[in-house]
Amino acid sequence: MNEKRGLLIGRIQPLHYGHMSVIEETLKEVDELIIGVGSADQSHTNSNPFTSGERVLMLSKALREYKIDPSRYYIIPLEDIACNSLWVGHVKMLTPPFRKVYSGNSLVKQLFNENHIEVVQPPLFNRKEYSGTEVRRRILNNENWEELLPKSVVKVINEIEGVKRIKNLNKKEVSEL
Ligand code: NAD
Repeated sequence: MNEKRGLLIGRIQPLHYGHMSVIEETLKEVDELIIGVGSADQSHTNSNPFTSGERVLMLSKALREYKIDPSRYYIIPLEDIACNSLWVGHVKMLTPPFRKVYSGNSLVKQLFNENHIEVVQPPLFNRKEYSGTEVRRRILNNENWEELLPKSVVKVINEIEGVKRIKNLNKKEVSEL
């Protein structure tokens, strides 16, 4: 039944072209894709500036921009938990049944493999530029971050005043030193 349903987990801080390429490629292999928004409980920090709801909005808008059939994906926020050894059960409780996981994150791979669930590592696409860290760095340095993200995601970040938030968070962390 769940042969052709896969799970992709990402923090998506924010959604960039690398995520979109892995989503498009994975959708060639599976009938349905569950997109888990990782660290859903985290926001307003330098490495996790956006809330789970904002990241769900980025995903919904970008998937619509790419004209991906909404019947082919589920977007599920996944809060982190303190016990890594229990995390796979926590994820399974919150998601529809799936057979394979798609992730390049070594801890994610290890935890699913230890639970006898196959993990496929999708090829990275221009990782130097298509990374959340690089997008956030460019925002802080007033460089061109918009070219790394789908237009609809740029629009969401502008709508929620994401640039201002990232800059303010950075100021706070520096003044706390
Ligand atoms: P991420 O957003 O950095 O990346 C998600 C996936 O997108 C990657 O695995 C990779 O396959 C793909 N990707 C990213 N850049 C790409 C590029 N340039 N080209 C092609 N593909 C690209 O998210 P992440 O850090 O992998 O997310 C893992 C989540 O799992 C985190 O939220 C983490 O907290 C969570 N987690 C939680 C626990 C726990 O709660 N105990 C344990 C393990 C993991």
